[in-house]
Amino acid sequence: MESSLLTCFLVDRDAHGALQRGVSRQPLDRLPPGEVLIRVAWSSLNYKDALASQAHPGIVRHLPHVPGIDAAGTVVESRDARYTPGQEVIVTGYELGAGQWGGWAEYIRVPASWVVPLPEGLSLREAMILGTAGFTAAQCVDALLRNGVCSSQGPIVVTGATGGVGSLAVKLLARLGFTVTAVTGKPSLASRLKDWGATEVLDRSAVLDLSDKPLLSARWAGAVDTVGGFTLATLVRQTRPYGVVAACGLVGGTELHLTVHPFILRGVILAGIGSAMLPYDRRLEIWRKLSGPWRIPHLEDVVTTVTLDELAGAVERILQGEIVGRILVDLKAAANVGH
Ligand code: NDP
Repeated sequence: MESSLLTCFLVDRDAHGALQRGVSRQPLDRLPPGEVLIRVAWSSLNYKDALASQAHPGIVRHLPHVPGIDAAGTVVESRDARYTPGQEVIVTGYELGAGQWGGWAEYIRVPASWVVPLPEGLSLREAMILGTAGFTAAQCVDALLRNGVCSSQGPIVVTGATGGVGSLAVKLLARLGFTVTAVTGKPSLASRLKDWGATEVLDRSAVLDLSDKPLLSARWAGAVDTVGGFTLATLVRQTRPYGVVAACGLVGGTELHLTVHPFILRGVILAGIGSAMLPYDRRLEIWRKLSGPWRIPHLEDVVTTVTLDELAGAVERILQGEIVGRILVDLKAAANVGH
């Protein structure tokens, strides 16, 4: 194995510092150390992968780099007794596609502690339609439920609703019986959002209040926010007493302009969601839910499949906020791509 080559999507800089990215063949022994070598069948495109494709210094520590924070495939070699060749597994988060080479490649090599056996009830393809996006949406919903939000208390608002996390959050909340208000910058997709389970579709401006009012008219029993910035500050001020806002994203900004009033007058809970380093036992629990009681119906409704040589275009689209649903990366034919 060690003398062979792997096909991957490589990000690098040339001698003049200009960013180069595209399909490349690299020696397999350039993979980082780790106990488990996995032949990747499917990966996906997340917003963080697009930033990694730009060699964002907050994500990528070394060039050349292979992005891909998600991978699902089959164990080829394992020095850990828990994993055996042929076993189907998934890896999401940790340093995959960030501090070390990720899933946009025929093979990944990772520490055994990152590997999750494919949960019964999900195929490798379904696991990657979910990927970090579904895993994050499920953690947001888990945060609402653990903090006492239930479906009789009122609507749950989801921002960035046509994106990866947003689309799966809409579907999961609807599946669990919540009334969902989808917020989007793509009003032409309102009927698609309703097909996915939203009761109401609002324009982004409905949750973007730039005033410095400490509280706004209370509307939401809970919120799943993928946008951050002034949108998140608006949602917190619009949340009903004892409601919960799960904050996972930053596409609209990283600053947070708030007073303490929503917290000390309305008892609003702001729940931070960080999926990359979620402890292993909680990680297994979220995947168990996604494969069983929280299984999201009709996952194929939200997916577009690309090959490695179609990824550069998809990266540009996600950076422009133009992606609808999930982008699945097909690695099964990777050896034939790009040459
Ligand atoms: P996507 O690009 O698929 O979705 C983001 C969506 O947000 C877009 O489709 C768009 O939806 C909306 N949007 C884009 N730009 C803006 C803007 N400037 N203002 C308001 N809305 C905007 O990304 P992902 O679903 O992969 O990720 C969403 C966010 O969640 C990202 O910030 C990502 O970093 C974060 N994330 C965090 C994780 C964690 O562990 N905390 C894990 C996974 C993702 P629409 O047109 O419908 O409004």
